[in-house]
Amino acid sequence: MSDSRKPITPVKPKSMEIIYIYPCPYCDREVPQLAPFQPAMAQCDACGRAFPIVPVEESSVRFMKIMLANGRAAVDPDFL
Ligand SMILES: [Zn+2]
Repeated sequence: MSDSRKPITPVKPKSMEIIYIYPCPYCDREVPQLAPFQPAMAQCDACGRAFPIVPVEESSVRFMKIMLANGRAAVDPDFL
């Protein structure tokens, strides 16, 4: 018998990622992308077409993660 039915304490985030929003050049849909550090192709989930996207600076994402303690700052009221 596992204890999978026991109510468990809500889980806190372990880390965070930053999502960037790219507008689809064909239909204007806002397409979310997990911080792309390399030039890549994004695929629009509305019209299905692919388009090249400009990568983001890895250092700016790293800075945000450090500033927010990799997500802990958002759930820990004593953090700041
Ligand atoms: Zn589209």
